[in-house]
Amino acid sequence: MTSPVSADLFARAQQVIPSGVNSPVRAFGSVGGTPPFLTEAAGALLRDADGTEYVDLVGSWGPMILGHANPQVVEAVREAAGRGLSFGAPQPGEVSLAEEVTRRIGPVEQLRLVNSGTEATMSALRVARAATGRDVIVKFAGCYHGHVDALLAEAGSGVATFAMPGSAGVTAATAKDTVVLPYGDREAVSALFAERGGEIAAVITEAAPANMGVVPPREEDGVGFNRFLAETAHAAGALLISDEVLTGFRASREGYYGVDGPTGAEDAWAPDLMTFGKVIGGGLPVGAFGGREDLMALLAPAGPVYQAGTLSGNPLATAAGLATLSGLDEAAYEVLGSASRTLQQMVAEALTTAGVPHVVQTAGTLFSVFFREEPVHSYADAKAQDTEAFTRFFHAMLEGGIYLPPSAFEAWFVSTAHTPEVLDRIAEALPRAARAAAQR
Ligand code: PMP
Repeated sequence: MTSPVSADLFARAQQVIPSGVNSPVRAFGSVGGTPPFLTEAAGALLRDADGTEYVDLVGSWGPMILGHANPQVVEAVREAAGRGLSFGAPQPGEVSLAEEVTRRIGPVEQLRLVNSGTEATMSALRVARAATGRDVIVKFAGCYHGHVDALLAEAGSGVATFAMPGSAGVTAATAKDTVVLPYGDREAVSALFAERGGEIAAVITEAAPANMGVVPPREEDGVGFNRFLAETAHAAGALLISDEVLTGFRASREGYYGVDGPTGAEDAWAPDLMTFGKVIGGGLPVGAFGGREDLMALLAPAGPVYQAGTLSGNPLATAAGLATLSGLDEAAYEVLGSASRTLQQMVAEALTTAGVPHVVQTAGTLFSVFFREEPVHSYADAKAQDTEAFTRFFHAMLEGGIYLPPSAFEAWFVSTAHTPEVLDRIAEALPRAARAAAQR
């Protein structure tokens, strides 16, 4: 497929923007080729600068859960824009958005808005360290929490895509306070707490990891991994930070907490702090962190933890977020769930027919496809997949007009605009792509 306009834009971009992109995975570095430069999108469809149309399975990495240019969301933003782009002062939309989140998600008693998921996790760590007076943060290999210095060690997403151990430019002092454990390894968690429990401020985990592909937390003896983490952390006076930047308002109406949270008083557990992004901003730059009121009370100006933002709580961003959340009613989650299940079946069928080893994994309405036979429970498992088969599959899908995440380590994102007709277009492209994946 030739895309002269995108090729020219990419060449120009590389002169003035590092690698030609403002976020690494967009450069198609691991799959090769020229990334299409996108100019327009509506519903489940994208159009690039060469006029080529694609069915989108990236959804801006999550925010576009109601489809692109959703009329209600666009109208809400247009209306807000007419009243001023930014005030740097309190505005009503912030209150409504925080109220909506606290209504949906039990453990969130108070919420503060920021501008990205990265800022949300960075700020949550600061609160956790201030609350406990401890320094050490525990994270899991393959979990991505944004490009926060302390959280880049063995991160998923772009770090996984480019097979980087972490990042240059992070000081040894910062790295020293982060302990990385294998995802799902309860023995490793217990052993670490037995040895260093008194130093640990918090465990941070993706509520359901989705940045090494989707790796849902597993139950053991009826106890989910997240609940185990909460109980282990609390027993040592540490906190649990559940990162729902990706899963929030997507895995279910209440995020992944709605999938594996308590079902009754007898198994009550909750993360102390939670982080959000993506869907909460409906496509505008928003993140948020929230949780127990006594912890959130540590924030300035009332408390000693400084945290701020010129554009935080921006009126356009809150308008887009509120319009998106108000479109996400029970019916919307049914549509999402059904589109997700149909797509999973279609992909599995095509890959099975072509004889391509694969496993589809889900977390609520979220899913991804690994190019290996056995289930994936950890980052080590995720890395042991056939990324070359994925690359062949990816390019054949792109040729067939389907825009997948350009990495074998990412979730596939559907929206409520992925109607049966849109799914039919994907079904048409799948057999050829599956055969391409099968070729060596
Ligand atoms: N946490 C998780 C779980 C994420 O998936 C991401 C982004 N993919 C982030 C944090 C960082 O969010 P942002 O890119 O908005 O900084």
